[in-house]
Order: sequence, then C-alpha cells, then structure tokens
Amino acid sequence: MGQLIDGKAVAARVRAQVKTDADRLRAARGLTPGLAVVRVGEDPASKVYVTAKKKAAEEVGFHSWEHHLDARVSQEALLSLVHRLNEDPAVHGILVQLPLPGHLDADAVVAAVLPEKDVDGFHPVNAGNLLLGRPGPRACTPLGVMRLLEEVGCDPAGKRAVVVGRSNIVGKPMALMLLQKHATVTVCHSRSDLPSEVSRADILVVAAGVRELVKGAWIRPGAVVIDVGVNRKEDGKLVGDVEFASALERASFITPVPGGVGPMTIAMLLGNTLEAASRQTRHVLGPEAGVGS
Ligand code: NAD
Repeated sequence: MGQLIDGKAVAARVRAQVKTDADRLRAARGLTPGLAVVRVGEDPASKVYVTAKKKAAEEVGFHSWEHHLDARVSQEALLSLVHRLNEDPAVHGILVQLPLPGHLDADAVVAAVLPEKDVDGFHPVNAGNLLLGRPGPRACTPLGVMRLLEEVGCDPAGKRAVVVGRSNIVGKPMALMLLQKHATVTVCHSRSDLPSEVSRADILVVAAGVRELVKGAWIRPGAVVIDVGVNRKEDGKLVGDVEFASALERASFITPVPGGVGPMTIAMLLGNTLEAASRQTRHVLGPEAGVGS
C-alpha cells in the first residue's frame, strides 16, 4: 500500500517560505514583487485559475493585477498590453492565461513577454535555457513535481523515469527536468506502448488529460507515481489520469487528484515571481538585493 503525497501541505510550506523571503526583500530593499495576470474572454476554468493565482499572490504579500480583456480583443491590443507590462518596473512577473480565443496567436503573445518576466517559463528563450541546463524561470507544474519528488526523498539519479504526455507545458519540460537530475527518461505519447513502458518506471509522471488512462496493474511495485491529470467525472468529481485505487496498491508514493500536483503549480508560480523580482532588483539595485540564495 502506497503513501499519499500531500501536495497541499507541501505547497503551503513553499508559500510560507515565499512569504518570508518576500518580507525580507521588502525590508532590505523596499521592494514588493509584482505579478500581472492577463485574462482574455470568459473561459470559466481560466477565471477560476486567475482568481486563485491573484489571491495566492496577495496572500504572500505581492502586488498583483488582473487585466481582463474582452474575448474579441485584437492581437495588436493584447500585444500592446504585454509591452506595457514589460516596461512597467513594478511588474516583475507576467502571466498570460491560456488558452486564448482562437483568433489570437498564443505563441506570439507568449514570445512577446520579456523572458525575465515570463514566470510561467513558457517563453522560447526559457524553454531553451531548460534544454541547455541554464538558469531561468521553469514551467511551474513540472517544477512542482520535482519539488514533490524531493519531499518524499526520491532522487531521480539513476532511476528509470517515464513521462506520459509530451506537451510543451508539462510533458517535455518534465522530461528535461528529470534528465537534468540524472534519471533515464522515456517520454510516452498517444502512439506509445503504454503498458510496457509504464511497467518499467521507477518514477512515473502522467500528464495526458485522459481520465484513468494508466491502469494500476501496469505500475511497477514500489514506483513513485505522480498524476498531473485533472479530469471531471459526470458527477462533477475530479479524477486523474491514473486509476487511483489500484495504483495505490502498488506504488510506494502517489499523488491524489485533487490535492497532489494542482496546489504545487501556483506555489511554484509564486516562487518564480519572487525569483524574477529578486533578479530584476539585483540588476537595478546591485548584487546584494537578492533574497536567500
Ligand atoms: P495536452 O493535451 O497539451 O497534452 C497531452 C499529452 O498527452 C499529449 O502529448 C498526448 O500525446 C498525450 N496523450 C494523450 N492521449 C494519450 C494516450 N491515450 N496515451 C498516451 N499519451 C496520450 O495536455 P497538458 O496541458 O500537458 O495537460 C495534461 C493534463 O494535465 C490535463 O489533464 C491537464 O488538465 C493537467 N494539468 C494539470 C495541471 C495542474 O496544475 N495540476 C497543470 C497543467 C496541466
């Protein structure tokens, strides 16, 4: 029987640390980290996420602003807002909530955010920095997964890690982060032989967006299982991409859905914003302006 990984508790600790560090930054340099969130249209999930991000930012003492634009906004108007935020010294982190309405070019919008203010870690420069093992903001969800592995004492070095899903925001950066920590990484997608690949995993991260795709019977006994998926059942309850009850029987550690990876994403966003503020302050105010490390 596996142990649950309590993402809520870990996220609470990360947030408390961010708050302490932000207080220190304010005391040392009179600087408050600022996060600007841009939301376009009325996507209900985006509204929930943006509200949660803004609230979390306020709770750790950041300035936070929501810019809500009409669903019919033009690409030019959206880009001009992003440029304005790029130039605003009070804004250290910019997040454009995806997905955007179909007439907008999301890649161009993400690329318009200054890389040092890209607290989502989605900018091509930051994706490239991850690939090359150079510092820079990292995508929040896989970063949160790495933190969860650390919390349960799971060092990826030398282990077989299997990532199910190859999206730019979860699967690919996840694989690179595990590789950077010296795991032997396999990336699976819709054309992979999942049962066979999954059965070899010491560390399994699933981010496919398909309800209960991974069966418990496929899981290698003792594996650490991280379920990134969030799927809503007919009764409104949330379930992950892993068949939870049977996976719990075989895993050593497993994240629940909800309460596993989800809370970590926002916690890591706060960490990225603090780090961005710290770096930008260092640039403007000198090398001692950082916090902690
Ligand atoms: P996506 O749709 O962009 O990518 C899904 C990936 O899964 C694709 O690469 C696809 O090849 C793969 N896939 C789909 N069906 C498959 C199958 N049958 N077998 C093997 N691989 C398959 O999704 P995403 O944005 O990466 O998100 C994945 C899931 O994670 C979603 O449920 C999403 O809601 C969730 N998510 C959660 C958080 C969080 O904070 N908890 C953050 C981001 C995404």
